[in-house]
Formats: sequence, structure tokens, C-alpha cells
Amino acid sequence: MLIDCPWCGPRSVEEFTYRGDGTLKRPALSDRSIDAANAYVYDRENPAGDHMEIWHHGNGCRSHILVKRNTLTHKILSCELLGPYSAGRKK
Ligand SMILES: [Zn+2]
Repeated sequence: MLIDCPWCGPRSVEEFTYRGDGTLKRPALSDRSIDAANAYVYDRENPAGDHMEIWHHGNGCRSHILVKRNTLTHKILSCELLGPYSAGRKK
């Protein structure tokens, strides 16, 4: 599987580390519910189909990338940078 890093171009998945679900939203600081905190930390879906994932290019530019990947075919549908350099940097 190749991931098209916005900085480095297509690279082998072996250069990357999966960092988690890209759809999770941290509960607001005002939400002191233990259930919301537990859901954010532990509850995960196992979707069949298109899914947003966070990958870290540790053996490359060290960027975190938001990858849209089909979990059935492993086809990469889009890649974009996360963080302060992300504006307008998509592939
Ligand atoms: Zn890279």
C-alpha cells in the first residue's frame, strides 16, 4: 500500500505509523461527563468502507496526515496534512 504524503509524494506504508481514527472529536472542556471521556478514549468503530485515519510519516517528513481509505479495498482516496502547515496542502 502506498500513501501519497503531501510533502514527500507516494511512499510505502512501512514508512508510516497508524495513529488512530481521524473522525474522533475530543469532548469540550466544559463536558465533565466520564461517559464522554471514556467514549473518546476507548470506543472505536470498525467500519467497512471509506474511513478517515490519522497516519504519521515517521520515516519521512514526520508529518501527521489525514488519510481517507477504503478499509475493504485499502485504496487511498485522499491525503491531507494535519496541523499548522495543513492549509491548502492536499493530495
Ligand atoms: Zn512525508
